[in-house]
Amino acid sequence: MSEPKPRPMLVIGAGIAGITAALEAAEAGREVVLVEREASVGGRVLRTHHYFPKLCPPSCGMEINTRRLERNPRITVLTATTVAGANRTTGGWSVTLNHAPAYVNSRCTACGECQAVCPAKVADPFNLGMCQVPAIRLPHPNAWPKRFVLDRSACPADCRACVDACRYGAIDLAATPTTSTLEVSAIVVATGWQPYPLDKLPELGGGVLSDVISNVQMERLAAASGPTGGKILRPSDGKAPTRVAFVQCAGSRDVNHLPYCSGVCCLASLKQAMYVKEQLPEAEVTIYYIDRRTPGRNEDFLLKAAGMAGVRLVKGKVGKVVQGENSQLALTVEDAEAGQLLHDRADLVVLATGMMPNLATIPLPLELCRDTDAFVLDDSKGRIFAAGVARRPEDVAATVRDATGAAAKALAAGRGV
Ligand SMILES: Cc1cc2nc3c(=O)[nH]c(=O)nc-3n(C[C@H](O)[C@H](O)[C@H](O)COP(=O)(O)OP(=O)(O)OC[C@H]3O[C@@H](n4cnc5c(N)ncnc54)[C@H](O)[C@@H]3O)c2cc1C
Ligand code: SF4
Ligand code: SF4
Repeated sequence: MSEPKPRPMLVIGAGIAGITAALEAAEAGREVVLVEREASVGGRVLRTHHYFPKLCPPSCGMEINTRRLERNPRITVLTATTVAGANRTTGGWSVTLNHAPAYVNSRCTACGECQAVCPAKVADPFNLGMCQVPAIRLPHPNAWPKRFVLDRSACPADCRACVDACRYGAIDLAATPTTSTLEVSAIVVATGWQPYPLDKLPELGGGVLSDVISNVQMERLAAASGPTGGKILRPSDGKAPTRVAFVQCAGSRDVNHLPYCSGVCCLASLKQAMYVKEQLPEAEVTIYYIDRRTPGRNEDFLLKAAGMAGVRLVKGKVGKVVQGENSQLALTVEDAEAGQLLHDRADLVVLATGMMPNLATIPLPLELCRDTDAFVLDDSKGRIFAAGVARRPEDVAATVRDATGAAAKALAAGRGV
């Protein structure tokens, strides 16, 4: 009698953590189903301009990963898919998946004819709403699968311009959501993070002053595929800033906001100080920090940024940012070394906001063990393992190590199933 086929492993979330866990498990011989709620894979890393420590564009590493996904017959990638429910079974889990309507199907060649005739515009989710894009579009230049998406809620009644323009019959405006079920051996939760909301920091000008932006917005401003074509410009008047202030721990290590350190924001601001200096060599950059947290080899990165002419690191907590004179912003800082209040001004303020687990606001219909900050804990009895920032705040290198470990644990738990 032939052995029953082992059940696949389910990986939820196709950021760098989920992609790594899926590849590692599949390359070890297990079938894997990788589900992603967005229309394409890659998660938040693809929204960075460059990523430390090597400062390469994130598309480089991601292209290698998507090629590995494409070539691995053991991996099924389901985009625009979420988990609707899950029940424990003797061999693992029975999972129900929701698939969003496929308004654009796999016949799409990404030719762009539909976009050229589309009359509707929406705020671009990839660029954090900082610009408008057509309702039908490629989600971003590195999208995989390379297929257009359609924001149906923005379409005027009776418009069919894109359908008429598409020579490949790739658009179905009447598509509906579907569901499917899956028996899986174990689950890796790799649902990642979202930025702490800027508007929860009004005392620092967050959500109130247009020239106070978040670190994730700064990544998009510096990126060629961003809202300004890669130019670092003030949102209020489109001018290049001459004084830029970074405010570290904005809403982090604070019981009123996120009580923990996200571990990457110091490095992200040092990296962004380099973006500013490379593009605007005359600009003066000040980084206000409580502690400089650049562990291990990342210390080299700190020394490089701190050694740049026109970059100052000041140990002090910014308490207030308000509109100042001459269209500048006025900062009040508790200078930790001098023990006094200091006042500064800047054209652009970047709040280094932390990473909050997605599961803090969008729960999964799964019995999960979580800590008080909504980070997921491993549950070997339940055969659920966490990877990446769903588990704890960390950078890409740590996420990759972590996801490899999660895949190994899920493989071991699902052995014989
Ligand atoms: C400003 C800033 C700059 C940074 N720069 C760097 C850098 O230069 N170098 C570096 O190493 N690190 C950097 N980081 C950290 C880096 O972004 C994270 O380490 C990385 O995103 C972690 O990947 P992840 O896969 O865990 O999460 P994510 O990238 O968030 O991916 C999670 C995926 O899961 C999907 N998902 C969520 N919920 C569901 C669901 N219910 N069902 C299906 N899919 C779901 C999401 O759509 C997403 O695709 C930076 C962080 C910040 C805040
Ligand atoms: S949906 Fe059709 S027209 Fe639009 S990019 Fe795809 S193939 Fe081209
Ligand atoms: S139906 Fe919607 S997506 Fe298609 S062209 Fe009209 S507005 Fe654009």
